[in-house]
Amino acid sequence: MDNLNDPRFRLSMFVLQPTTFCNLDCEYCYLPLRDVKRKMPGQVTENLADYIGEHILNKVPVIWHGENP
Ligand code: SF4
Repeated sequence: MDNLNDPRFRLSMFVLQPTTFCNLDCEYCYLPLRDVKRKMPGQVTENLADYIGEHILNKVPVIWHGENP
């Protein structure tokens, strides 16, 4: 992880998926585990924010993915 600020390894984004649960059933969906109601602990978000603040020098977007009704 020492290479995070090396331009060759610069991160362009973080993608967080707080849950795989989805109560829709789109025909084209290829995602497994849609019936699993497990949620990402909030502490993960706090740890990531701390990590980015301490180790990532460039601006990096954090994308939230998933979690339908
Ligand atoms: S995860 Fe997305 S594509 Fe899959 S069933 Fe849910 S809404 Fe549809």
